[in-house]
Amino acid sequence: ALKILSGCINCDMCEPECPNQAISMGEKVYEINPDLCTECVGFYDKPTCISVCPIDVIITDPAHIESQQTLLEKFQHLVKSD
Ligand code: SF4
Ligand code: SF4
Repeated sequence: ALKILSGCINCDMCEPECPNQAISMGEKVYEINPDLCTECVGFYDKPTCISVCPIDVIITDPAHIESQQTLLEKFQHLVKSD
């Protein structure tokens, strides 16, 4: 999963672009729900939130390092539970 750093300026560019609805407003800045973020696996070649973020404050969450296979399985699980 990815993570939004505290430097986020709440520009709201990323939230509507997330195919998994993993991004929402947190206490101070936007946050990514690691249970919903597939790093865009299953949808796009690259994480779309990173592509649209104007100030590059989205990184791989060091607390949620996942393999491509794990991300794919998460995507398949999320699609099924829709
Ligand atoms: Fe959503 Fe993709 Fe960003 Fe994860 S990487 S928060 S799935 S847009
Ligand atoms: Fe924050 Fe970047 Fe998302 Fe804008 S696009 S709300 S700066 S993480």
